[in-house]
Amino acid sequence: MTPVESFRDQHIAVFGLGGSGLSTVRALREGGAHIAAWDDSEKSREAARTKNIALIDLSKADWSSYRALVLAPGVPLTHPAPHWSVKKAHAMGIPVIGDIELFCCERTHRAPKAPFVAITGTNGKSTTTSLIAHLLTCAGRDVALGGNIGTAVLDLPPPANTRHHVLECSSFQIDLAPSLAPTIGVLLNITPDHLDRHGTMENYAAVKERLVAQAETAIIGIDDEWCRAIAQRRQEAGRPLIKISMSDNAGSDYLIEGSRISKRAGSVFQLLIDLSSIPTLRGVHNTQNAAAAIAAVTALGVDLATIRSGLETFPGLAHRLEIVGHIGRAVVINDSKATNADATEKALTSFPRGLYWIAGGRAKEGGIEPLTPLFNRVERAYLIGEAAQDFAHTLKAQIPYEISGTLEAALAKAVEDSQSSHAEEPVILLSPACASYDQFKNFEERGDRFRALVQSQSGFKPREKR
Ligand code: ADP
Repeated sequence: MTPVESFRDQHIAVFGLGGSGLSTVRALREGGAHIAAWDDSEKSREAARTKNIALIDLSKADWSSYRALVLAPGVPLTHPAPHWSVKKAHAMGIPVIGDIELFCCERTHRAPKAPFVAITGTNGKSTTTSLIAHLLTCAGRDVALGGNIGTAVLDLPPPANTRHHVLECSSFQIDLAPSLAPTIGVLLNITPDHLDRHGTMENYAAVKERLVAQAETAIIGIDDEWCRAIAQRRQEAGRPLIKISMSDNAGSDYLIEGSRISKRAGSVFQLLIDLSSIPTLRGVHNTQNAAAAIAAVTALGVDLATIRSGLETFPGLAHRLEIVGHIGRAVVINDSKATNADATEKALTSFPRGLYWIAGGRAKEGGIEPLTPLFNRVERAYLIGEAAQDFAHTLKAQIPYEISGTLEAALAKAVEDSQSSHAEEPVILLSPACASYDQFKNFEERGDRFRALVQSQSGFKPREKR
């Protein structure tokens, strides 16, 4: 834990008592602050009581002694409307901050030069964060990994001169961290997302920009217009910048071509690594993530030999193109994290042919229409959940499909069909392009169920190839 000592003896309001809120209360309390904690949900309040956290109804409390409001990132700060606790804080003229800000205060206070890598982007945050942490660990560094992934930041050990904090930051967390100034700031990409919480793309991009604006070194993927503009501003300000792109015309420092990553050396690019033999970094989106990770750890002094061997041992993340087993001739992939067509596009693009694709759940706007150009990679589709009929309508006459209804039925049929595939190694892919809430608690439960089903069939005997 990182005791937050910067607010010793001060009164602090904490609103939102989920995982990170509870961790915030513990860390502030340990550092000697007086806490007034509250949540709108009785269930969360009950969970807090069981952890001996005294509650104060902030909607009725006297706010005159509070020095700050620490808000959970899930609670609206600006859009669709500021939460009532935010309005109260504004009325009192006190700052509204989050746990990443508390970490930044502690870093300034205890070890201002402590290496700190912060990672954001609309997509690829978790993969890049984990990969950076993995490569640093391979280099023998002391690493604390967390933030928006895994462990809440204040549950990590405190900042220290030789400890590397590697923190995934969501846009909500950045919005609550005005003094975020990492050693290395990584911004992967910006595409429309969370606009209900940020109002406009301009606001969303401005929040993301804050993670790199004060970074000592900024690493920016410049293949979308928002990130290009942010990189341009950074360049004009004359601040250290490393650019990553799929185009060699973009003035980039790292070039991505399929699975290959090259680095600029004067006017040419030199190949650093080809990821094609690394199954946990399949797909050009992962090449982007790997390039950002390589740039980050290189800036922290990790040598190329360690990076190359570290990439080979990266275990990958669950539910993102995760290989969960082999059944007969087929390799089975769990991409349950793909809850929209954009993410499924990345999965379909990663396999040129021989796909037995399980899709469906609770559909997002636009369904799977945008995936039409990739349907020729799919041998057969197996549709589950609420979206099945709609998806069937889109697939009609383009690829064979069946409405399987459940994950169990879909997998059973995909296994049977894949054994007579002409492909050398057929691929059974769960990449739903849908939310999971119609049949599962969340995408993790959906993916865990899929993995368990696959692993229970390890004794499956394939039929002879036709
Ligand atoms: P995040 O933490 O930002 O949600 P993840 O690393 O968990 O990102 O990846 C989630 C999904 O986002 C992946 O399954 C893939 O579909 C997509 N994705 C990952 N990296 C990228 C990238 N660099 N560009 C675009 N899409 C990506």
